[in-house]
Amino acid sequence: MKDPFDRLAAVWDELVTTARRTVTDGLVVGTSGNVSVRVRDLVLVTPSGVRYDRLGPSDTTGVDLDGNQIIGRLRPTSELPLHLAVYRSTSATAVVHTHAPHATAVSTLVPELPPVHYMTAALGGPVRVAPYALYGSDELAANMLGALRDRTACLLQNHGTLAYGDSLDQALDRTAQLEWMCRVWLTAASVPGHSPSLLSPGQLDAAATRLRGYGQTGDGLV
Ligand code: 13P
Ligand code: ZN
Repeated sequence: MKDPFDRLAAVWDELVTTARRTVTDGLVVGTSGNVSVRVRDLVLVTPSGVRYDRLGPSDTTGVDLDGNQIIGRLRPTSELPLHLAVYRSTSATAVVHTHAPHATAVSTLVPELPPVHYMTAALGGPVRVAPYALYGSDELAANMLGALRDRTACLLQNHGTLAYGDSLDQALDRTAQLEWMCRVWLTAASVPGHSPSLLSPGQLDAAATRLRGYGQTGDGLV
């Protein structure tokens, strides 16, 4: 069995890999966005304003659920209120926040992403937009929690995305699915003289049921 320090190092490594992927997958530019992962009462987070390709093992940054710094000397992400609010009110073990371009564009247009695709069901239903508030503020965290009710992702108005999951991979995948759906809706909605057809609540429920059995293990996407 791995000792606790080895395990923490491995989790930090996974967090850094995920943060780098947000850049290489086009979900953020520069040091925008942030990533966290929960290990029991400890939350490892990306430090504020540090390029992800510069992060190494000695930059490990961790806080408790009240935001007190437990590990590291780099200042934690300015969006600590967002991440801690998710951990306090859900069973999430990972949170990803990005400024994904299509998702951010959609957040300026509508209060909810219209359900153009059945993957809406994989996020718990139509994705809401949390009203704008200053980045890093408790107000933004409160608005986000309202938008996340019965959902695993939301948009932050004029800002970006927030998704959580049981693992860093799942939180990142949900972010990518959300960005992709925003892109699909923007593309379809921008065709002059046409408006996209939308899925009904019944169609989304049927998709949610089927998605529970999706894939190889039966764990499903919902
Ligand atoms: P940090 O660099 O402090 O994580 O901030 C980036 C961000 O996306 C703020 O909303
Ligand atoms: Zn941000």
